[in-house]
Amino acid sequence: MSEFETIRYERPAEKVARIVLDRADARNAQSMQLLYELNDAFDLAAQDDSISVIILAANGPHFSAGHDLRDDAGPRVVADHRRIGTWCGFGCAGAESRMAIEKEMYIGLSERWRNLPKPTIAAVQGKVISGGLMLVWPCDLIVAAEDALFQDNTVSMGVSGAEFFNHPFEVGVRKAKEMLFTSDFLTAAEVHRLGMVNHVVPLDELQSFTLRLASRIAEKPLFALKLAKESVNVAQDNQGRVNAMQTSFAYHQLCHSHNQQVHGLPIDPDFMRQTFGTQAGVGS
Ligand code: ZN
Repeated sequence: MSEFETIRYERPAEKVARIVLDRADARNAQSMQLLYELNDAFDLAAQDDSISVIILAANGPHFSAGHDLRDDAGPRVVADHRRIGTWCGFGCAGAESRMAIEKEMYIGLSERWRNLPKPTIAAVQGKVISGGLMLVWPCDLIVAAEDALFQDNTVSMGVSGAEFFNHPFEVGVRKAKEMLFTSDFLTAAEVHRLGMVNHVVPLDELQSFTLRLASRIAEKPLFALKLAKESVNVAQDNQGRVNAMQTSFAYHQLCHSHNQQVHGLPIDPDFMRQTFGTQAGVGS
C-alpha cells in the first residue's frame, strides 16, 4: 500500500494480512505518523471480509524502542489528525493537553486494537521497550524469537508504568512489580514461562512459524473466531482490567504532572540526559 510510509501492509497468505513496522533505522520508535498509519492498517484489515487473521511484525533487529521521545507531538499536530477518540482539549494548557494526547494516541489506540474483531498475532524479535509493549500486548497471540527482550523502563523516567497498564494480566502481579521496580529486561524464555507469549522460536523461523499459525487459524469460521476472542476478553475485563487500567492511567498522568511541576518536563530530565545527552523530547 503506497500511502503508508512508516509501515508496510502485506497479504502473505490467503485470509491473512501482515502489518510490518518499517522504521528500522529508528528501531521502530513510534512516531505519531507510525501510530496512525498502524491504526489505518488495522482498520483496513478489520474491514476487509477476505481477511480473517492479522499479523503484526517489525522490520529490522528490534520490534520497537517505544514511543518516539524525539517526536515532538505538539497539541496542534494531534488536532490535525483524524482522531479515533472523543476526548478534547488537545490545545489546552497544563495537564489537560497531555492527558488528551495520551488518552487518544496511547491508551486509546492500544485499547482499540485489543478489541479488533479478528484474531491478531504479534511476531516479535529484539527489544520491545515500554510503548513497544503497547503494540504487542493488545494482540491476541504473541510469537517471540529467542532473542526477544521485553522492558518497561517508565519508572526510570519518573512515571508509574506504560499507559496501557496490562502488566499484572500479562506476567502476574509479582513479576509485574519487579519489572516496573527494576526496569529490567525480561527474556523470551522467561515471559514464555510466565504465559505472556505463546511460542518462542528461532529468529530465522519467526515469520514462517507465525504465518503457518495464522493460516491454520484462518481456516476456522470467522464469526466463531470473533466471538471466541470476545469471550476471553470479556472474561479478562470481568477480572477488573478496565477499572484497574483507568486508575493506573490516572496515576501515570499524575506522574507527568508532578514531573512538570518539579522539573519543568513531563518525565525526569535525568533519564533524558542519560539516554540522549539532552533534555529534548517530552514523550512517555
Ligand atoms: Zn505518558
